[in-house]
Formats: sequence, C-alpha cells, structure tokens
Amino acid sequence: SGEIYQWMTQIQKSNSELVTQHYLGKTIENRTMYYLQISQPSDKTKKIIWMDCGIHAREWISPAFCQWFVKEILQNYKSDPKISRFLKNLDLYILPVLNIDGYIYSWEKDRLWRKNRSPHMNGTCYGTDLNRNFNSSWGSIGVSYNCSSEIFCGSGPESEPETRAMAQFIERKKSDILCYLTIHSYGQYILTPYGSTTKPPSNSEELVGDKNFGPLKIIAKCTGTDNNAVPILNLQMRVAKKASAALMGKYGTRYEVGSTSLILYSNSGSSRDWAHMIGIPFSYTFELRDKGSHGFVLPPDQIQPTCEETMLAVTTIIDYIDQKYFPGGAVMLTSGSLGLSLCLSVVLTWTVS
Ligand SMILES: [Zn+2]
Repeated sequence: SGEIYQWMTQIQKSNSELVTQHYLGKTIENRTMYYLQISQPSDKTKKIIWMDCGIHAREWISPAFCQWFVKEILQNYKSDPKISRFLKNLDLYILPVLNIDGYIYSWEKDRLWRKNRSPHMNGTCYGTDLNRNFNSSWGSIGVSYNCSSEIFCGSGPESEPETRAMAQFIERKKSDILCYLTIHSYGQYILTPYGSTTKPPSNSEELVGDKNFGPLKIIAKCTGTDNNAVPILNLQMRVAKKASAALMGKYGTRYEVGSTSLILYSNSGSSRDWAHMIGIPFSYTFELRDKGSHGFVLPPDQIQPTCEETMLAVTTIIDYIDQKYFPGGAVMLTSGSLGLSLCLSVVLTWTVS
C-alpha cells in the first residue's frame, strides 16, 4: 500500500534515465493513482505496451508481478538482448495497482475483498467490480446489479473514478498502444477477447477503426480456415500459446490459453474486451497461480517462481509484437507495413473505400 508509493518514487529516482512516474487519476477515496513509464530516450516515434495490475483487491500476486516486472526490466535491459531490442521501439506503461482503495482494504480489513470502495445505497453497501465496469457490452452478461454482489457492475459504464481514469488515458493513447495486458489471479490462464460474446473478434472492425489505416479497408482471410475465422484472433491465440510454452519452460506450470467466454466464463465490461474493442490489436488477461488449492492467498514461497515464469510469458509477447511491428530493428510504420506484419501468414485483399 504505502509501500508501493515509496517503491515507485524510489525506483524512479534511482533509474531516472529510464523511468518516469505520472499521474493517472484519483480513486473514490481520493488516493492518487500513478503509472510508471519505462522509456529509453530516442528521437524515434515509439509504440506502447500497457500493463496494469491490481484491478481486483485480493489478488495480491498481481501488484507483486508488476513490481517484479519493472525491477527485472531495469536490472536486465542492458544485458538481455531481447529487452534491449524491444525497448528501442516500445515504451512500457505500467500501472502497479489500479484499485488502491480495495487493495489497502484487503490488507487492513478483509483479505478477500475484491471490488473498489465506492459507497452505494446511502453507504449500506460498498464496492463496484472494476472489471465489470468498462464500456464493453456493459451490464449485459456475467454481472450483477445488486451492489452487495462481488460482480456488481456499477451504475453505468465507467461509473467508477478508477475505471474512468484508466479508460480515458488509454483512449487518448490508443493509436499508439499495440498491446494491453491486465494481470489477475487465479486459475493459470492467458485469456483473449471476448468475454461478452463467444464470437471471435472481427479484424475488419478493429483495423478499419484504426486511424493508422486511413481510408484503407483490409479484408483478410486466413489460409486453411473458414471465412468467419479471424486472423487477429488466431494471431492473439498463437502468441498466447508461445507465451504459455515459455512460461512452462521455467517450472513446468501449465497455463490454459483461449478466449474468455469459451474456456472460462462469460463476462461483460472487462478491461480486456474494452481494450480490444477500441482497436488495440493484442489484448490479454493473465490469471496467475494457482489453480485453487490456495487461490487468492498464494503462499509466499510461490511469489518468486510465479513472477519468474510470468516474466517469461510477458516478455515473449512483447518480443513477438516488437518483431512483427518493427521487423529488422526499427522501421517507421506505414499503414501497409502494419497490416502486412499483422497478417504475414494470411492471404490479404486490399480494398480502398
Ligand atoms: Zn481478478
């Protein structure tokens, strides 16, 4: 809690050439949310990888991972060729805890608290599930309208200051964000969009909606799949499978990969669905260890191995995206190269609208 503030300030001071701390907004209890930006000085235009932790208060391993991730990047960016390569093209934006009020409440009052701490019904019940509060098919499935429920979706999309602050920031930056990562526990999953529908994400929707593509419309077909199959989905799945394989390589931990609605449950208003719906090409939810024997109360001796293996999965995703969007090092993006690099293995048809 307070320790995370101290940690952020300290890590920024001791790595001022690479890390800056920025204001994101205020929580319902008026605490300040900050994100860290890891950015190597450069005169090139770079793209962004976003990662947030601590949307749900009780999932303590999540903020721990965000801190681990920042520490590892800073310790190794000079010696690790993968990290030093992707930092030439990509800035990393890390939000260590979104739900600060809930997180503190879970330390001080109720270890299994999940939601934020917004008061409802004249203060008779508390908390909105921030991962049901985003503007993605809000309120339609896998939510409750009862404020005492664990999955209360709030009074409307982005009704909560925490959700609104993050959504407004990402919305402003979305044309530069290539990947949205959100870290939760537990269950050992890497989840792709969507949770609100079992339909695969539509590639034309996301590419046409992206201003990088100007007036171009891209209709892509994957070879060997039917017309409804979507290259972006397949690509998101393929990259997630690479990530889970890298993760398993460390300690043998098995992660399941798939779309949320197909392998876990249906939910609406999640940040992952929302990020993909506004046009961010890669969007993943990580559900970290374990599979339920300890659940949210992960034993301390599992914190480090969980962080180590997750680090491999996350850097695999970032490395993949770096190589796809910046083949051969650093190239200025054009609408053509971006579309082609996304769909390298598929047959592309271009139409100009
Ligand atoms: Zn969660």
